[in-house]
Amino acid sequence: MDLALAATVASAVTRMSETRPGVPLHRKVLIGLVLGVLVGAAANLWAGTDAGRRSVVAFAADGIAHPVGQIFLRLLFLVVVPLVFASLSVGVANLGDLRKLGRMGGRTLGFFFLTTSFAAVLGITQMHLVQPGAGFDDATRQSLMDQFSANAAEYQSKVEFKEGLTTIERVNKVLDWFLPRNVLGAITRMDMLPLIVLALLFGAALTQIPDSRRHQMCAWLETVAEAMVGIVGFAMKLAPYAVFCLVYAVVAKFGLDLLQKLALYVVVVLAGYLIVLFVFYPILIATLARRSPVDYLRRSIPIMVTAFSTSSSNATLPTSLRVAQQDLGIRPQIAGFVLPLGATMNMNGTALFEGCVVLFVAQVFGIDLSISQQVLVVLLCVFSAIGAAGVPGGSLPLLMTVMAQVGVPPDGIAIVLGVDRLLDMGRTVVNVMGDVVCCGYVERAESARRGA
Ligand code: ASP
Repeated sequence: MDLALAATVASAVTRMSETRPGVPLHRKVLIGLVLGVLVGAAANLWAGTDAGRRSVVAFAADGIAHPVGQIFLRLLFLVVVPLVFASLSVGVANLGDLRKLGRMGGRTLGFFFLTTSFAAVLGITQMHLVQPGAGFDDATRQSLMDQFSANAAEYQSKVEFKEGLTTIERVNKVLDWFLPRNVLGAITRMDMLPLIVLALLFGAALTQIPDSRRHQMCAWLETVAEAMVGIVGFAMKLAPYAVFCLVYAVVAKFGLDLLQKLALYVVVVLAGYLIVLFVFYPILIATLARRSPVDYLRRSIPIMVTAFSTSSSNATLPTSLRVAQQDLGIRPQIAGFVLPLGATMNMNGTALFEGCVVLFVAQVFGIDLSISQQVLVVLLCVFSAIGAAGVPGGSLPLLMTVMAQVGVPPDGIAIVLGVDRLLDMGRTVVNVMGDVVCCGYVERAESARRGA
């Protein structure tokens, strides 16, 4: 592209994305979202079964909307590794004392574990009460399986269902999860747990270094984190258009009729998200963080909008770090510790969703899960939510292993894949807000201790 054209395009994009005073970015993103649904649904209706029209709609989705959405998402992913490393290690190093790290880590992990377990139990209970999969029409089941089995096979290929591993092989597999031999290899695959372990150890080791040199290193890391957040600022200018494109691409291709077929399942899962978000979290905000839930959630709107539109906890991390510190009054060392950890390990929405899918698919296939199997489902959902990657659809490969463990056919996941993007948007909001609520709790607990 010649330079003049590039400059014109760049200035047009800048003009388009300038936030007029009075129109906050998150509102523009919401408008993009709604327009994406409307235009996508209209395109899907217009195409109907006509092959020519369908290819036009598919080209607009794959050739135009997809790249715009991807540029936005990739700009966000671009900063995740340096940002997580810098903010987490600074968060730990600034604690200055490893005992504080132990206390804060204990609180954080305890909160993560309890809230994730609650969410998984809630999901399973809802599915029991409503039974959306019982009496599911066989023809619909078959057509969904036919339509989405290729996608299911793709997810399945990402996890190994190896039988007959020796004890040493099993132990090594678990170790590889968080302490691989080659940390750079893991990081290039965006495996976040090893990166987190490295950042925690690095920050902890910094606390042992003389103050002047530690401060130097922290100042340097803080600058890196700030610069990364600056890159996110550039990406966010694209957000309203990218969100329009991402949503259009999904709705135009799959249409809203899938939603009708799976309406009850979708409603139950969404209801679960709403209960966690607007009942469970407010209770935690009021009791553990001692803050006004309405005010806390209202200030978190930009975080929720980013999570909803990117379907990625990792991509939302820069926004949550900024909002937690600037608008929610969380100290940087607490936000820098809890949020990166939470983006990888704390996924309440994912645990709820996974519990729902396992039960739903079991109901559709007429499989009865015993009470002990259901307890196992809860545990597996909690652990697979910890291991799931904070990217769109990050939980699906592990979810298939959970299904296999309890005797539910893993490829049955194909039945729900068509509506997964929508549910992914919702569960990412629940995931990220779980971390933000945890920040409020840890902030209050730590300041109560300081005051004591
Ligand atoms: N998209 C989710 C997240 O990033 C992960 C998932 O459940 O697929 O939090």
